[in-house]
Amino acid sequence: MKLIFRYRYLLFRRLLQISLLVLFFGGNAFGWNVLKGNFSSAMLFSAIPLSDPYAVVQIMATGFIVAADALIGALIILLLYGLVFGRMFCAWVCPMNMISDLAIFINLKLKLNNNLRFSRKIRYGILALGIILSFFLSTPAFEAISPVSALHRGIIFGMGGGWAIIAAIFLFDLAVMRNGWCGHLCPIGASYALIGKFALIKIRHDSEKCTDCGKCFEVCPERHVLDIINIKPGIISSSECTNCSRCIEVCDDNALKISLRNTMIRKK
Ligand code: SF4
Ligand code: SF4
Repeated sequence: MKLIFRYRYLLFRRLLQISLLVLFFGGNAFGWNVLKGNFSSAMLFSAIPLSDPYAVVQIMATGFIVAADALIGALIILLLYGLVFGRMFCAWVCPMNMISDLAIFINLKLKLNNNLRFSRKIRYGILALGIILSFFLSTPAFEAISPVSALHRGIIFGMGGGWAIIAAIFLFDLAVMRNGWCGHLCPIGASYALIGKFALIKIRHDSEKCTDCGKCFEVCPERHVLDIINIKPGIISSSECTNCSRCIEVCDDNALKISLRNTMIRKK
C-alpha cells in the first residue's frame, strides 16, 4: 500500500495513458464507440470532436479549409487545457511521456552520461517552423513526422516506419540529453505550455514545510519551473510544468500539492 501511495500519481497517469490507447485500439479494431481517431483528431462517443490545436493551426496554414468538426474539437481542447488542465496533456495523456520516462529511468539506473544542454526555448522555434513550413509545403509539416502520431499509429495499426522516430528519440533521451525531446524540442508540448498559461490546476509549494532536500529537482522533467522551492510559498507559475505530480510524490516534507491557482495555504 505504501508503494502504491508513493507512486499514486504515476500509476494513475499510466492507467490513463494506457486506457486511452486501449480505447483507440478498440475503436479501430472492434468498432468500440468510445474514442475513435488519433491524438491529433478524435471523436468521443461519436459525438464530441477533439482536435490538437497545433495540428489545426498547421492545417489552417496550408490554406486548406478546416472542417467544422476539427475547429470545434480544437476549441474544446483549448478551453479544457487553457482554463483547467494546463500542460497536463504531456504527463497524463501523451503516450510519448512513457517513452521519455522510461529513458530517464534507465539512464538513472545505468548512470549514463547524457549531459548535452541547450535552451528549452528551441521548442517554440520548432513550433513556429512547423507552421511556416506548413504554409510553404501546403501540408501540415510537423504532423508528417510527429512522434506522437507515429507512436499512436505503431501501437494501434502495428509496426511501421514511425518506430524509427520513436527509437531515435528514446536513444537521444537515454544517451545524449535527459528529457531532450519532451523538455526541449517537442512543439506539441510547447503549444500546450502556451495554451495553459492561465490554467486553474497548479502545483502549490509551502516553503515553511520545505527542508530543501532537492528531491523534487531530481525527478522534475522541467526543473527550471521549480524556482520558488525553499524561497517563497506559492504556485509553480510556469506553464511549462506538466502537473505530472512526481515532485509531490517524492516530497517527504509534504511541501508540494496539487491545488487551484487562487487558493491560499492555510496557516496553522
Ligand atoms: S512534449 Fe510532446 S511528445 Fe512529450 S509528452 Fe508533450 S506532447 Fe508528448
Ligand atoms: S514541478 Fe512537479 S508537477 Fe511540475 S513538471 Fe516538475 S515534477 Fe512535474
